[in-house]
Amino acid sequence: MAAPVVFSAQSDLLMPWYKKLHWQIIIGLVLGLIYGVIAASAGWGQFTSDWIAPFGTIFLNLLQLIAVPLILASLIVGVASLGDLEQLSRIGGKTLGIYVVTTTIALVLGLVLVNTLQPGKTVPQEMRAQLEQTYQGDIEESEEIAKQAEGRGPLQPLVNMVPSNFFDSASDNSNMLQVVFVAIFFGIGLLLLPEEDSEPLLTLFESLFELIIKAVEMIMLMAPVGVFGLLAEAITSIAAGSPADLASLLGALGFYCATVVIGLGIMVFAVYPMFMSLFTDISVREYFLAISPAQLVAFSTSSSGATLPVTMEVSEKNLGVSEEVSSFVLPLGATINMDGTALYQAVSAVFIAQVLGIGLAFTQQLNIVLIAVLASIGTAAVPSAGIVMLVVILESIGVPSAGLALILGVDRPLDMLRTTNNVTGDTMVASVVATTENQLKFPTDGASVATADVQGSVREEPVG
Ligand code: ASP
Repeated sequence: MAAPVVFSAQSDLLMPWYKKLHWQIIIGLVLGLIYGVIAASAGWGQFTSDWIAPFGTIFLNLLQLIAVPLILASLIVGVASLGDLEQLSRIGGKTLGIYVVTTTIALVLGLVLVNTLQPGKTVPQEMRAQLEQTYQGDIEESEEIAKQAEGRGPLQPLVNMVPSNFFDSASDNSNMLQVVFVAIFFGIGLLLLPEEDSEPLLTLFESLFELIIKAVEMIMLMAPVGVFGLLAEAITSIAAGSPADLASLLGALGFYCATVVIGLGIMVFAVYPMFMSLFTDISVREYFLAISPAQLVAFSTSSSGATLPVTMEVSEKNLGVSEEVSSFVLPLGATINMDGTALYQAVSAVFIAQVLGIGLAFTQQLNIVLIAVLASIGTAAVPSAGIVMLVVILESIGVPSAGLALILGVDRPLDMLRTTNNVTGDTMVASVVATTENQLKFPTDGASVATADVQGSVREEPVG
């Protein structure tokens, strides 16, 4: 594997803090936030979208540009290098098993919180009517997309996963599930071919994979500026023109947002660390330090697909997950493992029902768990995808999807947070699978020498 340029440097140990990537991203993020608030109240909307936002868009485009080739190359190489079908089904089974378990935990947690805190009881009647009127157009659009996604029969989601033309799938970043299918399918094919036949293609994909990793390092050089642009634009457009409206909206929906945030907080700061402590030797502090660049990029881009290159980079270089595990678990995780989205969907569905005065029986809530596990798998790893799938959940439990109006205004900040949760969950699963497969390269015990990780913090590497 190519020598890391941006993410690790032994000489980083003595580097001043402000030169370290994660601090630079945090600075970009905070400055973007401050700028956004000032720009919104000073009416600099046009200036921001003309001169500031493009840097965020370029950063996001660059990340998205490499998402499809990355998934394709890493999964094909990942599957083919597993050696045999037995290993593939063992690692695959383990990965899918943990994904389903954590997504179910997230859903149950969301349901417990929303039923206990009852945030729907706090929204005043006039606010409901006003919101419904404001967001009518957006709701119709989401309903239309959801209707198309719903398809005709119960097996439609399965059919949708298998493309009839690969170039169609590869030309749309929201079709990642199809790209994942093609990559796994061809990877298995390569696994079954005699070595002399598979060798040339494998070498090609390995080389493509190395190229993408190098591209990530180059793209991350502009991360602080990109994050600044994305945040500045997001804040300015959320608060566009009328900060007073935003304040009253946040006031009314504050309890709902708090319920989602508490749930996501429990997942990120309690559930995942618990899995890390139970199954790996990586300390919680070390874990968060290692993955922070991926979390910050997830927060700024609202897309686990766009964050995938960074997620893979930090998992391999900072957590020590082997390339074999990371190139299989992470592209799969970015596409189908969305705990934050599932939790958000459970809270939102019950919240909307509470506001509209619709009582949901226990069986209906159980239904939410089943549908939301599937919905989070089908949710594309792009901004706002979770809210489209929410329409499907609402329809299937008999809650009018017009209720979406209530939460559309605060979707963006929640999207940023749930994407951060999604990405954190993926890194946890990669670490656990790598540990159980004996493929975590940096155990923290035993004889060791100090090396610098991405943040320049010290972590231990076994001697010899
Ligand atoms: N933006 C989320 C992601 O990419 C999906 C969602 O909207 O919940 O992970």
